[in-house]
Amino acid sequence: MADPDFYLSDAQRELQRALRELVAKEIAPITARCDVAEQFPKELFAKLGTLGYLGLRFPEEVGGSGGSNLDYAVLCEELAYGSAGIALGIYVHVALACAALERFGSAELKREWLVPALRGERIGGWAFAEAGAGSDAGSVATRAARDGDAYVLSGSKLFITNAPIADFLIVVASTAPEQRLKGLSLFLVERDRPGFRVARPLSKLGVRASEMAELVFDDCRVPATHLVGRENRGFLDALHTLTLGRIASAAFAVGLARAALDATLAHVRERRQFGQPIGSFQAVRFGVADMALQVEAARLLCHRAAMAADRGLPHGREASMAKLYATEVCTRIVERALHYHGASGFMSESPVARFYRDCKVFELGEGSSELQREMIARELGL
Ligand SMILES: Cc1cc2nc3c(=O)[nH]c(=O)nc-3n(C[C@H](O)[C@H](O)[C@H](O)COP(=O)(O)OP(=O)(O)OC[C@H]3O[C@@H](n4cnc5c(N)ncnc54)[C@H](O)[C@@H]3O)c2cc1C
Repeated sequence: MADPDFYLSDAQRELQRALRELVAKEIAPITARCDVAEQFPKELFAKLGTLGYLGLRFPEEVGGSGGSNLDYAVLCEELAYGSAGIALGIYVHVALACAALERFGSAELKREWLVPALRGERIGGWAFAEAGAGSDAGSVATRAARDGDAYVLSGSKLFITNAPIADFLIVVASTAPEQRLKGLSLFLVERDRPGFRVARPLSKLGVRASEMAELVFDDCRVPATHLVGRENRGFLDALHTLTLGRIASAAFAVGLARAALDATLAHVRERRQFGQPIGSFQAVRFGVADMALQVEAARLLCHRAAMAADRGLPHGREASMAKLYATEVCTRIVERALHYHGASGFMSESPVARFYRDCKVFELGEGSSELQREMIARELGL
C-alpha cells in the first residue's frame, strides 16, 4: 500500500512520528480518567509547552517554535487521535487566545502573557459566546465602556472552555453597541482582576477532558493597555485572520475519525460470529472501506486548506469545505464505529462510546455546518 502521507516533508513525517509516540505514551493512558473526572491535565499542558508544541506556528521572537499551518494540522490531528477533549482545551489556548495575542497584542501584552503562554506556564481562554450570542456574533451584549485610562466591562459569558483553569481570557465585548458586529473589541482579562469571576462550572456530554464555565463581569475595570487590537474592529479583524480555527477543527475531526477507524479495524478482525471474524462479512468490509475513504478525503481537504494558507493564497473556501466535510464525516464514521462494535461499544468504558459523545461538537463550534455552507455558497457567487 502506498504511504498515504507521502507528500509530507521529512520534517513533517518526523513531527508526526514524534507526536504519535507522545500520544501513545502520555495521552492514551490518561484519556479515560480525564474524561470521567471532567478534568484537563495541566501537567501534560505544561509538558507540551516545554517540548515546544504549544508554540508551533508562532514566530521565534515571541518564544514560538516556528512552523507552518500544515505542521499545525498534523499536530491537531494527532492530539485529537489521543483525546478530543484534551485537544479542545489546547486548541482554545493556542488557536484562539494565543493567536489573537500574537496577531493583535501590544509588545507589552506579548511579553507578559504570550511568551509564558507558549511555554505552557499560563493557560488562556477565548470568551465570546453568551446566552444570547452564538452563531450571531453581532448580538454580543457584554459591554466595555471607556472611562479615562480604562474600560469598564459588564455582562456575562457562557460555554467558555478553559474558564475554570485559565490564567487569562481574551474577552469579546461591545465598545459600540449600536454598530453590532462592527462595534466589538477584544480585551485581555486576568483571572484575579476585581469585578471578574468564574461562575458556575458546566458539565458536558462530550469532550469532557476540557473544562468549561460561565463568566461574570461586574463593573470590571480593565486598563486600556489591555485592549487587544483596534477598538471596534478587534473581533472583525480576528474573524478575517483566524481561519486557522477551521483548519484546526477539520484536523481534530480527522484525528478523532482515524481513532474510530483504527478501533473498528482491530475489533472486526478480532470479534467472531457465525464462526468467522465479523470483518469477513461483506456488509462490514464495505462499511469499513467507506470509513477509511472518508478519513483520507477529509485529511486531503484539511491539508489542502493548510497548504493554501501556507502559500499565502486565499483559503476561506478551502477552510470551510475542509471543516464542513471533515466534521460531518467524523460524526458518520464514529456512528459506524459504534455500530460495528455492537453492545461492547455501547458500554460506558468503551473508547468508542467516548468518541460518540465527543464527535458532535466539531460540527457546532468554529461556525456550524450551516454557516460553513453559507460561506461556501457565498464564495460560489450565490
Ligand atoms: C464544547 C464546547 C466548547 C465551547 N467553547 C467555547 C469557548 O471556549 N469560547 C466561546 O466563546 N464559545 C465556546 N462555545 C460556544 C460556541 O461558540 C457556540 O456553541 C457557537 O458559537 C454556536 O452558538 P450556539 O451554540 O448558541 O448555537 P446557535 O447559534 O443557537 O445555533 C443553533 C442551531 O441553529 C443553527 N443556525 C443558527 N443561525 C443560523 C442561520 N443563519 N442559518 C441556518 N442555521 C442557523 C445552527 O447551525 C445550529 O444548528 C463552546 C461550545 C461547546 C459546545
